[in-house]
Amino acid sequence: MRIMVTGGAGFIGSALIRHLIAHTEHSVLNFDKLTYAGSLTTVDTVANNARYTFVQGDICDSDAVRSAIGEFRPDIIAHLAAESHVDRSIDGPGAFIQTNLVGTYIMLAETLAYWQELKDVAKASFRFHHISTDEVYGSLGKDGLFTEDTSYDPRSPYSASKAGSDHLVSAWGHTFQLPVLITNCSNNYGPYHFPEKLIPLIIAKALDGEDLPIYGKGDQVRDWLYVEDHARALQAVLENGEPGRTYNIGGHNEKQNIEVVRTLCAILDVLRPRSDGNSYDSQITHVADRPGHDLRYAIDASRIAAELDWTPQETFESGIRKTVEWYLENEAWWRPLVKANAARRRGITN
Ligand code: NAD
Repeated sequence: MRIMVTGGAGFIGSALIRHLIAHTEHSVLNFDKLTYAGSLTTVDTVANNARYTFVQGDICDSDAVRSAIGEFRPDIIAHLAAESHVDRSIDGPGAFIQTNLVGTYIMLAETLAYWQELKDVAKASFRFHHISTDEVYGSLGKDGLFTEDTSYDPRSPYSASKAGSDHLVSAWGHTFQLPVLITNCSNNYGPYHFPEKLIPLIIAKALDGEDLPIYGKGDQVRDWLYVEDHARALQAVLENGEPGRTYNIGGHNEKQNIEVVRTLCAILDVLRPRSDGNSYDSQITHVADRPGHDLRYAIDASRIAAELDWTPQETFESGIRKTVEWYLENEAWWRPLVKANAARRRGITN
């Protein structure tokens, strides 16, 4: 199949592309604006593959989207391009409204025009897959899990913009019969994660001997999913998902932020001990909590397990160790990004 991936130079999009090129026969178009969050270094390993093409373009630019779709003629569009960082959505929500809402509308409008002209067989097998977040469901108390039937209750400008884009996708399915799929996924981690997010930022700061500032008590719970497990889940959904259906994707790995940070410190203590013999956890400090910080997210991923036979392969312990090893071996990738973003950091984020 021919799969157009928007946002393919970002963290999850690039993992999906590397996975599709390595493990399938599909051809892939990477359509990405290359914002601060996108880098072609994330797809270096597939850049010379004959089944891979890159087009630099903005999902808010109808002409660019139309011509990319018209030339590539996708069987599937996997839409990941977005503004994705909660802290940035608090500092500047406008870009989130523009990219996540207006950009998704433009993707839908151009996709619909293309899809309506397809022949019957191609029209029936076409899919528009929106990659979204569990944050649309709001915040859980100590118990319970988000299912696909949980009501939307977004709390941050980021999650509100993703909730809105999910609703647009769903509306295009209901109103125009566009064959749409939506996946809502928990927090991802793994290689090529932009170093402003919790796990890579902690690794970078720890190695540089800086404070490791934790929002509040660090008792917020997130359900962590290794990014390559997410890429396998996305392949399962875009190949075999039922149009109009939503699938939750989660790692069955609920951890408090403070536990995640202590685990990273313990692994670094073994793999790259501090020269003074102290543990990296002596660098932990606590800062004022993020405004509106959601307490707990946790996913019930039983639908995708039962219907599409997907479960995560990595445990948190195996995935986090692989991740630390990757960051230790790939300082040349993340150091320039840390430098460029140093000015704007105000605390630990996820
Ligand atoms: P990311 O910020 O790492 O990457 C986003 C990519 O989109 C970048 O390559 C960027 O250049 C591109 N982009 C941004 N605006 C664009 C535009 N206007 N036109 C074209 N390209 C543009 O994000 P990510 O963490 O890889 O997340 C990908 C998707 O998955 C997002 O939609 C996000 O909401 C969703 N998601 C992320 C997580 C997570 O833990 N990171 C969890 C669940 C869902």
